[in-house]
Amino acid sequence: MRLVTLNLLMCNSEECSGRNQALTLNPGEITPGTTQFNHDLTIRMLGKLDWLAFVNAALRLGHELPDNITEADHQNSELIQRIFDILFNVEIQTGELLCPNCNRTYPIEKGIPNMLPQDH
Ligand SMILES: [Zn+2]
Repeated sequence: MRLVTLNLLMCNSEECSGRNQALTLNPGEITPGTTQFNHDLTIRMLGKLDWLAFVNAALRLGHELPDNITEADHQNSELIQRIFDILFNVEIQTGELLCPNCNRTYPIEKGIPNMLPQDH
């Protein structure tokens, strides 16, 4: 899975429904992607991303990003390219997603997050 999809994944436990709680990424094996840079797509994604959740996930992958992003940053092509690569060109093959609210974990295997409830 890529970080661009992290935003769409929600904890499925009953107590967390409707909370829109961002999941915490614990990455295992990662591989590089080969998606070609697209500036406009990155800017559009910036409007949809939970920025802080993204910054935290990026940090866990070893990429440091600013705490907030401004309109002026949209012209910073070095930064926008870096954001693009973290969103689209980091393939998380294994690891897990943790719900900070209920502590439920969801495994990532062969690049696919398994969002079905797990038995503990
Ligand atoms: Zn939860």
